[in-house]
Order: sequence, then structure tokens, then C-alpha cells
Amino acid sequence: MLDELYGLIDNQSFPNLIAFGTCFHISAYKAGIHVLDAVFGDIVTRFNTFMVRQHRYGYPTKGLVIVDQAHEDKYRELFQNFRETGTRYGTVNNVVDIPYFAGRVDTRMIQVADLVAYSVYQYYEHNNLRYFNHVNERFDRRGPHDPPDGLKHITSEDCQCIACGWRVGRKITGQI
Ligand SMILES: [Zn+2]
Repeated sequence: MLDELYGLIDNQSFPNLIAFGTCFHISAYKAGIHVLDAVFGDIVTRFNTFMVRQHRYGYPTKGLVIVDQAHEDKYRELFQNFRETGTRYGTVNNVVDIPYFAGRVDTRMIQVADLVAYSVYQYYEHNNLRYFNHVNERFDRRGPHDPPDGLKHITSEDCQCIACGWRVGRKITGQI
């Protein structure tokens, strides 16, 4: 069943389904860092970057963040902080002010997000590319042959993963 579901993701084309993923490695942890805050901030920033790019291409719309209702309290507070102070990378003006908290029965997109998250987890935790390979091309990127801007690995280690390799090659650090 999983293979069939990942096959559906694989068969989508831009811009019908665009994935974002952020993975936090323990090596990047320092006292005072709130991991959920850092990861959610990174994801929202990546989504905002995509919306800004769409705006430049003549599609001036705002993005809506949909969060699983089961985690509403945690994320409502985080999102409020972003609106007031920006993420640690900047403001997120192209994303609608308030996230929509949806139950799993309200939107299938939360289940798709779970599949994306699971594929990223399998890749980073078990070096298992079986599912990740179906999702990889769905991560946001500037063009079909560009590397995945939409996938980020927050780590302090010298890493050559799919997310880190091209950034190291271009000497890109920090936000992008
Ligand atoms: Zn990496």
C-alpha cells in the first residue's frame, strides 16, 4: 500500500504537489535551542520562499499553513511568535497570518505530509531511500534540474546528504 501511495506522490508534477522537509540533527543542538521552534520556523520560511518566487512569476497569492489539529496548542503559540518577531531567518509575509488547524478527516494533505515526513525520516535515520526516492523530485526547487531548496538538513556535521551536498558545493550556509 505504501508503495502505491508513494507512487501517487511520484507521479505528480509541479506545481500540483510541492514538498518541504526539514530534518534536525542532534549535532546542531545547543543549549537554549528549541528544536520544534527551529524546525517549524525553517519549514514555514521555505514555504514563504516558494510563495515569494511564485509572486515574482506572476502568481501573487498567499500560502496557508495547515497544521494537524492534534498539535494545535503548540503550533498556535509558535506561529504567533513568527508573526510578531519573524522566524530567525526573517519575516514570512507571503503566508497567511493564522494557520488552519485541520483534523485528519478534513484534508488528505495532512496524510500526504505524513508520508513526506516518513520518507525523510527513513532516509536520515536508516539511510533507506525506498520512499524518499519517490518524494525527492517533489521538493521545492527553482527549476526541474535545480537542487532541492525545499529540503533542509540542520546539522553541524560535515554532511554530504541530498540536502547538504549542493549547499556545501556552493558554499551556501545558514538560511538557504
Ligand atoms: Zn545533510
